[in-house]
Amino acid sequence: MIIITNDKVDSGREDGRAFDEIRSLKIEAGVLKRADGSAYLEVGGNKIIAAVYGPRESYIRRLLRPDTGVIRCRYNMAPFSVDDRKRPGPDRRSTEISKLTAEALRPSLLLEEFPRSMVDVYIEVIEAEGGTRCAGITAAAVALADAGIPMKDIVVGCAAGKNNNEIVLDLSEVEDKEGQADVPVAIMPRTGEVTLLQSDGNLTEEEFNKALDLAIEGCMRISEVQREALKAKYGE
Ligand code: UDP
Repeated sequence: MIIITNDKVDSGREDGRAFDEIRSLKIEAGVLKRADGSAYLEVGGNKIIAAVYGPRESYIRRLLRPDTGVIRCRYNMAPFSVDDRKRPGPDRRSTEISKLTAEALRPSLLLEEFPRSMVDVYIEVIEAEGGTRCAGITAAAVALADAGIPMKDIVVGCAAGKNNNEIVLDLSEVEDKEGQADVPVAIMPRTGEVTLLQSDGNLTEEEFNKALDLAIEGCMRISEVQREALKAKYGE
């Protein structure tokens, strides 16, 4: 298990991080016996499990594609993952995140090698502390690799945003809620291709570009930890 830990410095951020510092991060591959692939990820106060089943023959007729496999994702927040008990079951937000997660991961997967099949990805947020959509994508990509799904790259996600008039990397929950903007990003790190880009809040063009560059920098760092997690399980 690889762990990035941060020394506290006086930066004006609520948790003392530098503007370009990500929270403490650890990723472990293959944590579940029964799923075909899995991963556990902690970043700051987020605790997330991702599990993958497949590729297996599609039993849902309307989803079946004769020329390729399909990926489906379900992002779910546990009722106990947030301060106020979250009502169990899907809601608008989780439906949106499930959809964008599948879209962020799909370009990396060689699903055309598995016509008529489907790959199911389950992301369970056990504890949430800001940035769960990106952390879920990062964990899911490791779980997909652990499941042995052929892929051209391991997708990785990280958000940047604006808080106290500063562009900062990897917003905490407080920074997300009190901040002025949030820019979640996912990329394929080999090519730099962006597979998720959202922007919530108000940013000038210059600020947006800075946030995007910073988020990509964060993705590159997190990508190293994903690779180390897979190496720890499978060797070089
Ligand atoms: N959150 C919460 N209750 C909810 C949804 C979110 O307390 O029903 C918190 C949680 O910590 C989450 C943060 O608000 O990480 C920011 O949520 P957002 O919708 O911006 O998504 P995220 O940053 O997790 O991708």
